Amino acid sequence: MTQFDAIVIGGGLVGAAIGYGLVRDGLRVAIVDEGDIAFRASRGNFGLVWVQSKGLGAPHYQRWTRLSAEEWPALAAELGERTGISVGLEQPGGLQLCLGEEELEKRRAMMEQMRREAGNFGFEYRMLDRSELAGILPGLGASVAGASWTPYDGHANSLNLLHALHKGFGERGGTYLPGRTVIEAHAAPHDFRVEFAGETIVAPKIVLAAGLGNAKLAPLFGLLAPVRPQRGQILVTERTNRIWPLPLGSLRQTQEGTIMLGSSEEDVGFDTGQKPEIMRNIARRAVLCFPWIAELQIVRAWAALRVMPPDGLPIYDESEEFPGAFTANCHSGVTLAGAHANAFAPMVAAGALDPMMMPFSAKRFDVSAAA
Ligand SMILES: Cc1cc2nc3c(=O)[nH]c(=O)nc-3n(C[C@H](O)[C@H](O)[C@H](O)COP(=O)(O)OP(=O)(O)OC[C@H]3O[C@@H](n4cnc5c(N)ncnc54)[C@H](O)[C@@H]3O)c2cc1C
Repeated sequence: MTQFDAIVIGGGLVGAAIGYGLVRDGLRVAIVDEGDIAFRASRGNFGLVWVQSKGLGAPHYQRWTRLSAEEWPALAAELGERTGISVGLEQPGGLQLCLGEEELEKRRAMMEQMRREAGNFGFEYRMLDRSELAGILPGLGASVAGASWTPYDGHANSLNLLHALHKGFGERGGTYLPGRTVIEAHAAPHDFRVEFAGETIVAPKIVLAAGLGNAKLAPLFGLLAPVRPQRGQILVTERTNRIWPLPLGSLRQTQEGTIMLGSSEEDVGFDTGQKPEIMRNIARRAVLCFPWIAELQIVRAWAALRVMPPDGLPIYDESEEFPGAFTANCHSGVTLAGAHANAFAPMVAAGALDPMMMPFSAKRFDVSAAA
């Protein structure tokens, strides 16, 4: 039997960021990870650190996302120094392009609502018209009517982020246990035990960060995580000269020069197949934004599953039945890596979630608790 201070179930971006934050806080931590046979959103995402569209009608989510974006530079620098891996963070702000006047007006209304809801916290944005955009983005398509801009957005190499978090976790003394699927566990207040063939690990704290696996695991710990898969497809072009000074929502240029085109939203269960019709729509929109993209070769394409809560907002919780058990679920694990490592992990280390996390509780879905 091996004793730890905390067990994290799941070694994707969410579990790795939390595990990294916990070992940095001096805890003895084990990350238990099913591995590559699982549906890993962390290996199939778009790499945006994206703030501007987060939290319409839910200003607590906008604040959490902003906090994460603010923590990102420190996390990226720290990971770079400790592991030698650059996570490629650039945070020059971001533009969301709008095709046609109707889309632009909808976007304007959305951004204005976000500003109103932000209250004293503030929300800085600007709407750019076509002529202003054309000065920044060469070869802009005739259908682009304008864009929204905020200074908070950015992008990164999310595979390098995952790698760096794992490397940093190991170098700080964390124990990574891959190839292990948690199916059942012993849970009691501040006393958790997970068994595998010939091996038992115990800890007074446990964090469920198993992505889509959380839906089944949560009830074992008196928690609720009703997440479902949402498929997203992405296309990648061959490399080209550096063209855009900032990411453009569903279009971004990587530091290597490829252009990523994304990303769709489909409810198709656990199907990770690619659908030509969806790929065509992604490509069509990209070419309407920048007709010259049609000249570039598509060199890669894939589909992956988002971890989607019913209302699209993250779920963070601690168990009332089994204190010491926590869960973290979200569909923006790249963006939220800064908050997970630098804010959520310290709360877990201290033994309780901050009151600011209460609106993220899954009690919002539990009709009996609400009653
Ligand atoms: C197409 C697409 C585009 C995206 N674009 C962006 C973006 O631009 N910006 C952004 O911020 N986010 C983006 N995301 C979302 C982001 O990738 C996810 O929020 C994040 O990867 C979720 O990480 P996770 O660790 O929760 O889940 P996962 O990556 O799925 O990892 C879960 C881990 O838990 C393990 N596991 C599961 N069940 C068990 C079990 N029972 N026992 C042990 N281990 C278990 C699995 O092996 C896996 O390693 C995108 C996602 C997709 C699909």
